[in-house]
Amino acid sequence: MNHHQTLAKNYGAPAFNAVRGDGLYLYDESGKRYLDFGSGIAVTSVGHSHPKWVHAVQAQAANLVHCSNLYGIPGQQKLADRLVAKAGPGRVLFCNSGAEANEALLKLARLHGKQRTSEEGKRYTVIGAENAFHGRTFGGMAATPQEKIQGGFRPMLDGFKFGQLNRIESFDRLVDDSVAAVFIESIQGEGGIFPAEPGFLRELRALCTERNALLMLDEVQCGIGRSGHFFAYEASGILPDAIGMAKGLGGGFPIGAIWVAEAYAELFQPGSHGTTFGGNPLACAAANAVLDIIEEEELLEKVRANSATWHQDIQTLANKHSEHIAGIRGAGYMVGLALKPEGLNLKIANAAREKGLLVVPAGQNTLRMLPALTANPEQLSEAVAILDEAFANVER
Ligand SMILES: *Cc1c(COP(=O)(O)O)cnc(C)c1O
Repeated sequence: MNHHQTLAKNYGAPAFNAVRGDGLYLYDESGKRYLDFGSGIAVTSVGHSHPKWVHAVQAQAANLVHCSNLYGIPGQQKLADRLVAKAGPGRVLFCNSGAEANEALLKLARLHGKQRTSEEGKRYTVIGAENAFHGRTFGGMAATPQEKIQGGFRPMLDGFKFGQLNRIESFDRLVDDSVAAVFIESIQGEGGIFPAEPGFLRELRALCTERNALLMLDEVQCGIGRSGHFFAYEASGILPDAIGMAKGLGGGFPIGAIWVAEAYAELFQPGSHGTTFGGNPLACAAANAVLDIIEEEELLEKVRANSATWHQDIQTLANKHSEHIAGIRGAGYMVGLALKPEGLNLKIANAAREKGLLVVPAGQNTLRMLPALTANPEQLSEAVAILDEAFANVER
């Protein structure tokens, strides 16, 4: 398809118009059905139009959609309690997207730096990781050291430096007195599914504690159960100082949030930050429904159990097509296939789509699979079978 004549051209031309979703399936205008292993980029965490989610959103819409943060919102308070129960003692601030969550984290870092030096503008450097992605706002772009993101929009926001993921020495060198925070994804998503190793996260935790820098984790893509843990960093046993989340949290309804550990939770005081829509009743009803479904259907346990077999199937696929699959990375329902030669990820994604499977290309020639947490073993093996055909096609 071409670009629609009145839509901005910031996205690529779409392959089809999507008109309906049902569980793991997405349907186009012609009625063709796709097994959706993209989930709107890790967003529809409990599948499309889960009946329980639909009911919660419809009931809330009929009752109260929006009232602003001038008034208390019981669903927001409940959601904050639930996120604190998962992350640890602290406070939660709501917003509407991943970029906004990260923006709030970057503002938290500035407040922390000011408090450390009792002077504004002295300690504000944020150390990120090469190959990261943190969103498209000026803060998010500055934290995303990639020409394809920053190009055309310079000058960037000042005060960002970058270490190499899983190379503690490279962070050790950068975290000095000017640094307010270290900010990384627990599993890099857009960059090509590169997990921060548990040992690295533990060393980074110790480094940040020693030098009084906040450890802030971007869990926008890897969080909310995708890795098989509610937050992906849990596999390492560490506790971060702040967490950004969004994508899967609302199950398709826009909502973002940051959690801030108790020790830093007083940095945001009345008037210091805010957003009109953040945590409105409808968004919180959607997110509370997502958490209900994750708990009631024991989705974390299922993701972990199903992944064991699924990852083995993917390994078998990789062995069979070793000429084109160079490696497998990820955790749980967040898997990246490293492909060769360059550009094959786009070709395979297109071939798979023709055959009724949606997967998403990512950086470094990676093919990304991000099925809903409700994906069952049959759907997981069907996706591998379709990929097998797609690889066989390009090999022919
Ligand atoms: C998608 C993403 C963002 C940006 O979220 P938006 O909702 O698109 O603004 C930030 N960080 C990570 C890790 C992401 O995957």
